[in-house]
Order: sequence, then structure tokens, then C-alpha cells
Amino acid sequence: MGRGVAAVADHVVGVRGPWSGAGVAEVAAKVDDVDLDRPLADMTDVLDEVRSVYLDDAVWFHEPRYLAHLNCPVVIPALVAEVLVSSVNSSLDTWDQSGGGTLIERRLIRWTADRIGLGPEADGVFTSGGTQSNLQALLMARGQAFHADTSPRLRIFSSQDSHFSVQKSANVLGLGPDAVVTIPTDDRRRMDVRALDRAIWDARAAGHVPMAVVATAGTTDYGSIDPLAGIADVCAQHGVWMHVDAAYGGGLLVSQQHRSLLDGIERADSVTVDYHKTFFQPVSSSAVLVRDGDALRHVRYHADYLNPRSSGQPNQVDKSLQTTRRFDALKLWMTLRAMGADGIGEYVDAVIDLAVTAHELVLDDPDLEVVTAPALSTLVFRFRPAGLSEDDADRVNPGIRQMIAGSGTAVIAGTRSDGRAWLKLTMLNPETTVDDLGAVLALVTGFGRQLLDDLHTTQEVH
Ligand SMILES: *Cc1c(COP(=O)(O)O)cnc(C)c1O
Repeated sequence: MGRGVAAVADHVVGVRGPWSGAGVAEVAAKVDDVDLDRPLADMTDVLDEVRSVYLDDAVWFHEPRYLAHLNCPVVIPALVAEVLVSSVNSSLDTWDQSGGGTLIERRLIRWTADRIGLGPEADGVFTSGGTQSNLQALLMARGQAFHADTSPRLRIFSSQDSHFSVQKSANVLGLGPDAVVTIPTDDRRRMDVRALDRAIWDARAAGHVPMAVVATAGTTDYGSIDPLAGIADVCAQHGVWMHVDAAYGGGLLVSQQHRSLLDGIERADSVTVDYHKTFFQPVSSSAVLVRDGDALRHVRYHADYLNPRSSGQPNQVDKSLQTTRRFDALKLWMTLRAMGADGIGEYVDAVIDLAVTAHELVLDDPDLEVVTAPALSTLVFRFRPAGLSEDDADRVNPGIRQMIAGSGTAVIAGTRSDGRAWLKLTMLNPETTVDDLGAVLALVTGFGRQLLDDLHTTQEVH
């Protein structure tokens, strides 16, 4: 154990960038070379080999110039907890496989529900991630809306920028390809509430059954927060289940400065929170919360060997899609006990500040432009000097991203907006500095210029 910790600690200290920049073939050669049927002599050899096949080409989220996806650097108390979680190996499905862990998880569900303001009947459960939390929330919503004949007519409403797990969930739930109605967004990429209201009226007029509205509190690309209070009004008026996907924005629950961005979330019927994003927890750690704990009955089944009807014991499997389940809650518990909620909240505020700074830097650079101002800690932007056509910008920007990744000095993301290629910074590392942001943007413009030159040369040649 000690040598394992030392190996990763040494490596982290020595890391000089978020990743090696190695190509797939290069890494594959090393992995394929291992003979899995011929074990090594001892753990020292195993660690040496793991350094080569894994650590050398891992992507390091703690590196301040990792600015790509919604991956966070992890807080140390949660890592200490990971050792306990895996060593004891509690399974949170039943009381007789977990004991006290069950009650710790329940306290944290209560704590989160109280932070949201879901009321005394609220309940929920830890899950493997936002995808699973969203699935379970929509499964409960379907359970509430379901009558034998309605299934193909059920409709879910979510914004064009909502997470793809909404579509995926509808598919898994067998709701048919037309089940998700996409609602347009405004210029800050927030759901248009009047369009939502109209879409629900239209659906009803067409004989469909509105099953749920998914409001996103922190869209994956823009961090935008749908108007939660307005959406809650529409849901109340139509009697439709309101789910808030706060997988990304959940960290605002502990923010000192920005908690009000979530105003209205307390009116949700269900909420997704990913602790493994804005609570700086290691994967996996997420929860689905529900206002009326009774709705969890839609995932409840009884088995004589596991959770018989009359056991009288607190069995979390009664609330979960999973059976055997990790005690991820201990990581959040130990984090709260060591750092306090405010400690996490300060990190959340710090990464929001970084996004504001990144936006200012981009506005200051005539070669860069943004889609919209940041709402949380992402910034969608692109390299487009004056006179560069949209089509050429589409050619150049994905190339910039690749060149940056290949350099190993930084990692940024890409996305599409209105059919065009854009770049994206996701800031989740409170230790990223203004200098880091400036340096990464300089890489963008530097590689951008280089690609433009190449583009012009090829265009002249042809
Ligand atoms: C990340 C994300 C999800 C999915 O969560 P996972 O933990 O990756 O499964 C869902 N919704 C939003 C808005 C997200 O950003």
C-alpha cells in the first residue's frame, strides 16, 4: 500500500503537463506487450510496469492547464476515504452488508436535500454518476405519469443544450424515438420558458402526455442555468414532474457567493447532483434526490435472499437501480468533516472567477470570439481573426485542439454550436492561474496562426 501511494505521489510531483501527448498506437503497443498470463515477480515490478502502461500516458486533472471536460482535481480527504471504502468494501445495498455506512449515506442524502430545500419527505440515493441519476429520476417521473396505455405518448421536455443522458434515458425507458421534445434556448443558452409552455400545450393538444421537464442547472457546454423558478411555475400549472439536472451546477449548493443562481431548485420533484464534478470528489460519486421519497418505490423490488418485505431494516437497495454498490458517500463525508462545506464552496467560487477572467482575456484578443458569456466555469470560444470565413474557422479550430493535445502542455475541449466547430475551456481546478489561462490562449492563437498559414499555402497550391 505504501509503495502504491509513493508511486502515485512521486509521479504526480514529476508530472510536467496534463498528459504525454502520446498517440493511440504508441500506448497500445505498450499495453499489448503485456503478457497477462505471466505474472511479474513482485509488486515493485508491477508498479514499474503500471507506470509505463498507465501513469506515463494518463490524463492529469490536477494539472492547472487541463481545461477540457468536467473532470475535477480531487481533494485529499476524499482520497483517504477511498482507501477505507475499498479496503472495507462495504456494499450499500443492504444493512447486513454495510451497517453504519447505510446511515452515513442517509445523512448525506438528507444534508443534500436540505441544502436544496426539498422538504421533510425528501429522500434519494447515491449513484454512479449523473447519467444514472437522470435515468432514475426519469424512471420515477414515468412511474408517476404512467398508465398502461400512455407509454408511447409520454413526452419529456428539455432544452437543446441539455445532457445527452436525457435522450439516452428515454431510450432505455422504452419511450420511443420522439419522446424528448427539444426546447430552444435564449442568447445565454437558457431554456426559453414561454417556448416550454407552448410545447407542453401543443403536446397535450396532440394527445401526448407530458411526463417530465428536465431543467439543467449548469449545461455541459455553457454552464447555463435554465430559469428554474419560471420552469417550476410552468410545471406546477401543467402538473408535470420537474427534474433539475444539477450534475454540473450542484456545487453551487455550497457556494458562498453564487448559491442564488440555483434559486427555484427547491421546487423540483427530483434533482441530480454529481459530487464528482463540483464537489471535487473522485469518480464515482453522484446522487439523485426526490421531493417525495415515496416515489422511490418505482425502483423497489423484494428478494427473499436480500431485502425481504418484512425485514424492518434500512436497506438502500430499496431505493437504487444498483444492487452491490460502493460506499462513495464516505468520501463526501470525510471531505465535509475535514474541509467543511464552505471549503468546497470556495473552490467553486474560485473556478467561477477563473471563467470570468478567461472571458475577459478572450474579449481582449481580436483573434478570438465567444458564443456567450460564461455562466459557471466553462467558456465556449474559437479562433477567428477578422476576415476568416466560417468554413475556414471550422477547419482550423479542431486542428488547434489536436495540436494542443499533441504538445502535451495543455488539454482543451471542443464542441459544436449552431453547426460550427468551437473550442471549450472547462475550469474546475481552483489552482489554475491567470497566467495558465493566458498561456493556453496563447497556444490557441499560436497554433491557429500556424494552421492558417498552412491553409493558405495549400489553397495557393491547389
Ligand atoms: C456530466 C453531466 C451529466 C452526466 O453525468 P455523469 O456523471 O458523467 O454520468 C449529466 N448532466 C450534465 C448536465 C452533466 O454535465
